[in-house]
Amino acid sequence: MTQAQNLTDRFGRHIRYLRISVTDRCDLRCEYCLPKGFTDFSEPACWLRSAEIERVVASFAQMGVSHLRLTGGEPLVRRNIVELAQRLAAIPGIDDLSISTNAIRLARLAEPLYRAGVRRINVSLDSLNPSTYKAITGGGKLEKVLEGLEAAKIAGFSPIKLNTVVMRGVNDGEIEEIFEFAVEKGYALRLIETMPVGATGQDVLDRFIDLETVRQRLASRYELIPDILPGAGPARYYRVAGSHAHIGFITPMSQHFCQTCNRVRLSVEGDLFTCLGDEHRYPLRSLLRAGCSDEVLSHHLSQAIALKPERHEFNERPARVVRFMSMTGG
Ligand code: SAM
Repeated sequence: MTQAQNLTDRFGRHIRYLRISVTDRCDLRCEYCLPKGFTDFSEPACWLRSAEIERVVASFAQMGVSHLRLTGGEPLVRRNIVELAQRLAAIPGIDDLSISTNAIRLARLAEPLYRAGVRRINVSLDSLNPSTYKAITGGGKLEKVLEGLEAAKIAGFSPIKLNTVVMRGVNDGEIEEIFEFAVEKGYALRLIETMPVGATGQDVLDRFIDLETVRQRLASRYELIPDILPGAGPARYYRVAGSHAHIGFITPMSQHFCQTCNRVRLSVEGDLFTCLGDEHRYPLRSLLRAGCSDEVLSHHLSQAIALKPERHEFNERPARVVRFMSMTGG
């Protein structure tokens, strides 16, 4: 058996992708993610230290994981994020290091992160209207995000993807405008359906929109040709005929993609989650702090992967996931 086969689950899915929530803290309070005024964050003593994260990643990498994404919370609020990125990028077997950010702090950090080895970046941007952006994010300043995006381009990130959670009556009327902005700047746009993760995610389900209706609306205006993009993950991409512009649709609710899920998530506290839609977790921090051997660690990782659920049940059991997205990242 090759090492990569060690990380194959019961449904034949090879796990290649680890998402790491490097902090559950965030400088925004997006309405679908964290409650306004929320401060009940994990305590620093419970956070995985950089060396512990490195150890988990090295073990995963030996077993075939090659893609890493740093997420959160907001990964740029972790104080040593650049140094951590550099250490993770240097781990043998890791050939793709990306980051998801709200870009509020990106203007200053884009260049150091690129130098550290991060190559792909996803930026959350739900509106181009400063007051709508502020309302959705609980006080965020749109101009900071736009500055961060410019800095990412200058630093050399490619591709740069915008993540837009589409909500009825909030930003669904703006999609064409956001798409044209993305096209003009050379970014790919990914539209995301709201998911019932945590009470906040459950509260916005009444604003859920099946993205197929949005795709049809866009298709009446642009000629959309199915295409693929590097690091495509769960998005179904289309290219606009006659251009390099891409738009992706992430449809966990209306058309789930669990059969191709190749990812697992490490929380800020060192719990491994094998499914975004499942509360089951495999605590690794206590193992690491008890000085477990490399063999014991990789045995636990394989055991966790073997039990990855077949699919989420967001539609059948929308109240199931009580943790906020910030613990495990999007
Ligand atoms: N702070 C970073 C950011 O803004 O990208 C990384 C963490 S954020 C939790 C990652 C992604 O999860 C974002 O694109 C966000 O829009 C998405 N997200 C959070 N809660 C969601 C929900 N309930 N439904 C759909 N997407 C959600």
